[in-house]
Amino acid sequence: METFKYSDLSKGDITHLVQRNVDPANEIRALVENVIEQVKQHGDSALLNYAEQFDKVELTKLYLNKAELEELASAVSEDQQEALQTAYANIYKFHKAQLKQEDKVETMPGVTCWRELRAIEKVGLYIPGGTAVLPSTFLMLGIPARIAGCNEIVVCSPPQKNGKVNAFIAYVALMLGIDKVYLVGGSQAVAAMAYGTESITKVDKIFGPGNQFVTKAKTIIQSTTTTAIDMPAGPSEVLVIADNTAKPAYVAADLLAQAEHGVDSQSILVCTSETIVQQTLAEVEKQLAVLPRAEIAKQAIDNSYVIITQNLDEAMDFSNQYAPEHLILATTNWQQLTAKIINAGSVFLGNLTPESAGDYASGTNHTLPTSSYARAYSGVSVDSFVKKITFQYLTEEGIQNIGPSVEILAEMEGLHAHRNAVTVRMNNK
Ligand code: NAD
Repeated sequence: METFKYSDLSKGDITHLVQRNVDPANEIRALVENVIEQVKQHGDSALLNYAEQFDKVELTKLYLNKAELEELASAVSEDQQEALQTAYANIYKFHKAQLKQEDKVETMPGVTCWRELRAIEKVGLYIPGGTAVLPSTFLMLGIPARIAGCNEIVVCSPPQKNGKVNAFIAYVALMLGIDKVYLVGGSQAVAAMAYGTESITKVDKIFGPGNQFVTKAKTIIQSTTTTAIDMPAGPSEVLVIADNTAKPAYVAADLLAQAEHGVDSQSILVCTSETIVQQTLAEVEKQLAVLPRAEIAKQAIDNSYVIITQNLDEAMDFSNQYAPEHLILATTNWQQLTAKIINAGSVFLGNLTPESAGDYASGTNHTLPTSSYARAYSGVSVDSFVKKITFQYLTEEGIQNIGPSVEILAEMEGLHAHRNAVTVRMNNK
């Protein structure tokens, strides 16, 4: 990992360092636009072709039904079922608490305004399954969708080499009461859910993380169709802020946990202590050597870097510019830092709180904004699956109270019909 001193970096250097997943030649965009067009024109048959081309599997049909899911799920062992149920219970508990009805507000006597939640009717969940299959993502998306009360939940996940999904995806589908999983991955899955095909319903909003193809497809369909997206949730990243109270073995493990996601993942260490940096880098080498996904993790680590700062304030300053998806405060002094966090997707406090806890089972959602989108986006929550509709009700007193102001405001804008809609009611005593 290349090491930089924060004080040596120019503004331009920092801008360059915080940039990630850029597609300067628009190569990914061009490829994905073509995939979207093919799916739009040829529907299911394009999906079958892409399964062959990208996933190297010849499918005879595009989905698994309930009986097939049940058969697959029967391979999940008891301790695996228990772990999935623990995760389910914690994620459910944390997300259920997000479903709050707001109070009605009387803005002036006789004028009452409020908001009510309504679930988005049709949602599409993308469950990644390229280099690693992620049943945890299925829980992270399916649970808030169920809590929100979405009517129709379409699920797409890439087919594995045997033309199926793995047992854990099947098990989670059944936990969530979902009895069909489409065997479609990548940008073609996003296109299918945005346009609809013979077998896949067009949805109102698409959720879920994925690789650069998936993320690019989501950003394209967001501006070209009426289907919305949760956020651009691309290749994963972590930024660890550490001082001399950090534990090098823990920090190294956290950096590698992120790096093993994919070659395009990033693991950034921002540290106030050169000694801790040296010890952490030695630990990274040691732990990397025994990882089954060492080849992937090594490439990601090689694309990552270390920044040495003079103090924690400088470290936080860099972190806010990077806007990490995951931020770990590997310091016993984390209390003095939390108020200074401006941009981050999800934050892990102190030496005993690994990101893996939130990735799987503590309760928070792991579908989070990457590539500095944490500057403006939040991670997935129940809010992502609902709309908040505003209501208002005026009484006789209300129309008399608000009417004169509305008449003048409408007059100011030259909109006489607007003024009249109030005047006729005020005069009709
Ligand atoms: P994936 O399911 O996102 O992508 C696999 C699909 O990509 C394949 O089915 C295939 O159709 C398509 N594909 C592969 N090569 C292609 C090519 N050359 N051209 C066109 N399409 C191609 O699975 P993955 O690749 O393992 O990636 C998962 C990603 O999700 C990782 O980058 C990980 O970091 C990220 N992730 C992000 C979050 C988050 O919240 N931001 C959470 C979990 C995972």
